[in-house]
Amino acid sequence: MIILDGKKTSQEMRNEIAKEVETIVKKGGKIPHLAAVLVGNNGASITYVNAKVRDCEEVGFKSTLVKLSETISEKELLEEVAKLNADEDIDGFIVQLPLPKHIDDQKVIMAIDPKKDVDGFHPQNLGRMALNLPSYLPATPMGIMDLLDRYNIETGGKHCVVVGRSHIVGLPASILMGRNHYPGNATVTLTHSRTTNLKELLRDADIIIAALGKPDFITADMVKDGVVVIDVGTTRVVDKSKKSGYKLKGDVDFEGVSPKASYITPVPGGVGPMTRVSLLKNTLMAARNKM
Ligand code: NAP
Repeated sequence: MIILDGKKTSQEMRNEIAKEVETIVKKGGKIPHLAAVLVGNNGASITYVNAKVRDCEEVGFKSTLVKLSETISEKELLEEVAKLNADEDIDGFIVQLPLPKHIDDQKVIMAIDPKKDVDGFHPQNLGRMALNLPSYLPATPMGIMDLLDRYNIETGGKHCVVVGRSHIVGLPASILMGRNHYPGNATVTLTHSRTTNLKELLRDADIIIAALGKPDFITADMVKDGVVVIDVGTTRVVDKSKKSGYKLKGDVDFEGVSPKASYITPVPGGVGPMTRVSLLKNTLMAARNKM
């Protein structure tokens, strides 16, 4: 069994991006610039956005954090988005989700210029992805593809079962795994809460991408020997032994499943860090497209 070490792999990728930024600077080029919009005081959102800003600093990008009040109206937020679309110095930006209930997430995503949509959530980018055209890929599925690629895992002709069909993880991951491309060319089954024969499908899977958000849901009896397991799930469960009072749990029972797996991602330290580096890759791509 080989651990798919997202922490190490993402660090290597960050080093490569940082080198590229150094080259841009030496040539007198424009430093990639990411902006992040944070609305309100959601604790998890603040943590994620701060991490994104730190990541930018680490590789030498410029970053701008736009903090907005929880009570901002949808119209005002759309005006902020329009300003960022028009700001020539900003190569790409993200609006941290979820937004307060009175704001329609989809309306905001639709307002982002697809050329600056480094989260890859705009329908234009999702459509381009499905057509195998150059696009910004959503960060988590992109991170999964990079991990498979960096570990040279064969995906062609394999049966890949994706559990969960969210627009940010499961659905795009299923599209990417089915594309005529490496990583991809898999025979994909996209499953969800209405799937009636999940265990049977999982037992047939060569590759499992678990993104349902239910800790330890996939157990050893549901997988076959040699399976490749990508565990996207990150649920906070109470753990009084930790300073934070919680620990992160994946959707896969790591202890039970790992002895049967050929490759498996840990939680934490698997898909999470790969997701973070994907945003940097997209920002670099946004900056390059303008050079
Ligand atoms: P989500 O929007 O809550 O979607 C969950 C999906 O799982 C839904 O499609 C749901 O089906 C399906 N599902 C729920 N129960 C199921 C069951 N018993 N059997 C089969 N499918 C079931 O979740 P998400 O945003 O994709 O996130 C999933 C997990 O990944 C969460 O733990 C989240 O924290 C984590 N995550 C991690 C990263 C990272 O970077 N590591 C990034 C994003 C998300 P229906 O569509 O039928 O409801």
